[in-house]
Amino acid sequence: MYHLPLPAAQIAELYPNCANRAGNLQLRTALLQEGERVIQRSATYNQMAQTSTLYQIAQENAVHVSNAELSNLYERALVNGGERPTYLAIRGAGLFGRCPLCAQRDVGTLDHYLPRASFPEFAVLPVNLVPCCFDCNHAKREHTPAAFAEQMFHPYFDDWNDLELIQATIVVEDAVYAEFAVNVDTLHPVVADRAAAHFETLGLAALYSGHASVELVQRRAGFLLTFENGGPEALQAELLRESQSRRVPFPNAWQPVLYRALADSDEFVNGGFYAIDDQLEVAGAD
Ligand SMILES: [Zn+2]
Repeated sequence: MYHLPLPAAQIAELYPNCANRAGNLQLRTALLQEGERVIQRSATYNQMAQTSTLYQIAQENAVHVSNAELSNLYERALVNGGERPTYLAIRGAGLFGRCPLCAQRDVGTLDHYLPRASFPEFAVLPVNLVPCCFDCNHAKREHTPAAFAEQMFHPYFDDWNDLELIQATIVVEDAVYAEFAVNVDTLHPVVADRAAAHFETLGLAALYSGHASVELVQRRAGFLLTFENGGPEALQAELLRESQSRRVPFPNAWQPVLYRALADSDEFVNGGFYAIDDQLEVAGAD
């Protein structure tokens, strides 16, 4: 998870621009009439998002057009129509092209934070459009928060970059695994519950564990060399340096958390790394 600056596009310009792309005069006129409500609702969205209360926003039906006609503006005008440059600008805002929801996979699409099936008036609202990867988009689907704790991370309105959201546990058995979870015990409950909902909805524990397993296999020979040259202290120091180094650009990704947990594992630095198994099928995946 990582924070994104607000998109530059403003609904007060974007909505009428999208409405004006409608070829049918009657539909165009009706969409423009709907504009006042869309702008008002967008202002409400902004206020509620700033106080993390979007779960309380009521659903409304469109007045001058159908909900579907309003929702369709997204594909017709923004994704595939004349406003595509704005779509591309919002989609392109991910840091290094990475998905802000998982901080792992590449951005490929836009996610409606509040789904347009339930909130068609937010179909082209820039602050409701989050660049994300296809897998996160699919996992989130029509997720509509019904309670405070069900609100997933909102990259534009939540800045959790300075918090230690995630922890890892190293398991050394006949192989080495890293298990990831949200730091529910140390985070403020206001963040902990939401981060846990986010983590669970997107299946990030399995994703991170799988990637960490490949990382361990690729680093095994290096760990062995460091250990043979300098013992467990040298290995631990190397792991701590790596954890520090990997805090950028995504402090709340699995990499810094993995190395911190490896450094903190006496079992791992005292020879547990020998158990890293390169034949292991992706650990943690189900
Ligand atoms: Zn993602």
